[in-house]
Amino acid sequence: MSNNIQPVFILPEDTRRTSGRDAQHNNIMAAKAVAQAVRTTLGPKGMDKMIVDAAGDVIVTNDGVTILKEMQIEHPAAKMIVEVAKTQEEAVGDGTTTAVVLAGELLKRAEDLLEQEIHPTILAKGYRLAEEEAQKILQEITEKVSINNDLLLRNIAITAMTGKGAESSKEKLADLLVQAVKSIAETKNNIVTVDISDIKVEKRIGGRADSSSLISGLVIDKERIHPSMPKKVEHAKIALLDAALEIKNTEIDAKIQITDPSQLNSFLEHEERTLRLMVDKVKESGATVLFCQRGIDDIAQHFLAKAGILAVRRVKKSDLEKLSRATNARIISNWKELTSADIGYAGLVKEEKVGEEEMIFVEQCQNPKAVTILVRGGTEHVAEELKRAVTDAVGDLAAALREGTVVAGAGAVEMELAKRLRVFSRTLFGREQLAVQAFADALEIIPRTLAENAGLDPIDVLTKLRVAHDQGQRWAGINVFSGEVMDSWAAGVIEPLKIKTQALSSAAEVAELILRIDDVILGGPSKQSLPPNAMQQRMDGMM
Ligand code: ADP
Ligand code: MG
Repeated sequence: MSNNIQPVFILPEDTRRTSGRDAQHNNIMAAKAVAQAVRTTLGPKGMDKMIVDAAGDVIVTNDGVTILKEMQIEHPAAKMIVEVAKTQEEAVGDGTTTAVVLAGELLKRAEDLLEQEIHPTILAKGYRLAEEEAQKILQEITEKVSINNDLLLRNIAITAMTGKGAESSKEKLADLLVQAVKSIAETKNNIVTVDISDIKVEKRIGGRADSSSLISGLVIDKERIHPSMPKKVEHAKIALLDAALEIKNTEIDAKIQITDPSQLNSFLEHEERTLRLMVDKVKESGATVLFCQRGIDDIAQHFLAKAGILAVRRVKKSDLEKLSRATNARIISNWKELTSADIGYAGLVKEEKVGEEEMIFVEQCQNPKAVTILVRGGTEHVAEELKRAVTDAVGDLAAALREGTVVAGAGAVEMELAKRLRVFSRTLFGREQLAVQAFADALEIIPRTLAENAGLDPIDVLTKLRVAHDQGQRWAGINVFSGEVMDSWAAGVIEPLKIKTQALSSAAEVAELILRIDDVILGGPSKQSLPPNAMQQRMDGMM
């Protein structure tokens, strides 16, 4: 027996591993890099980013989550921060930049404390305490909003669209949005429910943003498939099909050997018969309008037109689902199964020109709550960004009405929270106190960034804001145009409370999660993860 100690390998040879302080440092760097990438877009004076994807498609946007989704981030900790933005998007629809910037700042402040030899678990615990307290404070300082307060609702919509593509016509759009949300909101026992799937936001290229409109019913970005189909159907009976009205190759899979011309004829006749059968089935069901998710064969188109049916093909799945909700039609996946029981109703279906192209309008629906906001923009990029801003505003209005609570923005709510958290920290001892203070300091990243993006001196602005809050001006925020302190509430910078509660909880959660990691094992030869400095370089190109 030899006394040589053999090294023990428990991981494959090509595994990369970092641990301890290095791992923490790496993760925090990556998280900060993500926050840095979106920070310049925050607020009314935030800048836009242009992202070109692998296929060469260009997106110009100011929307945090859109930027991060398009960036194809690979670092594992950075991905966790991207998740924060996605969660925010799902929960509220707005505030994605805020959540990410906050998460980055929490980690940055944590790093300073780690360097002072404060243990990560104590830090994580302090952050948890601070977050819980912050949620309590938010409940204390929040203001109420009701469905009848049009002015407040309008301000929520305007705040959401400030500094976005919708800037120039935000007043007009805000009116449309308030009208839309009010028309779909339902009040029962003082509880307001808003189902945003009742609101469709459709874009149309051509025309100015202020020619956007609200349509009660659905607008589908398609046209009828055959010119001799009716352009307008009243008392429409609607069939929804998610299968093709075509003879699929798979159905005639067997090889056909044709030895004389009559055989070819009979084969074609058979095809035509089948297509006619399909159309007959649609006719029998009583449908006068057909929306099909897939293709419709030329011959079938001809038969449909002859039957006086208005048919639309290649309708998006999401549109088919919306049509189903709006008209009470059932989506059928096999044409053979279509019966009159599956048919839905709309008072009017028509094709109409909007801008350069035709669109299908489905109005006076069975479910009167279905509405469409048709946003118009001069070019594809403008229309897309406008649609994103409008969608954010819809999310904010819904969140505000559902919970009935709002706060004033422009940094006001974050400053007030920071102030009260510092008071709270004095009730704690030792290192937890430091962690809570760091949390409070981190919140000030929001007004600081708003100021920086507006070209103002952040130190000046923060000092003024602190003084105002110490004097009891709860809603003192930053006027990004003058650099002075303003009463954000009076100025109409209003946001749903939900943006803030959600951003706080997910930012704190991810910060705690990342702080607790002290070992990163990158396994598998195929997983080529980037070290954060490589990612930083990539991102620098974007900033
Ligand atoms: P997010 O993705 O977080 O929603 P935004 O770019 O929409 O990022 O910026 C939101 C921030 O801008 C909020 O802190 C909000 O209070 C602030 N904000 C919005 N309108 C104004 C305004 N008129 N003046 C100052 N700040 C504003
Ligand atoms: Mg926003």
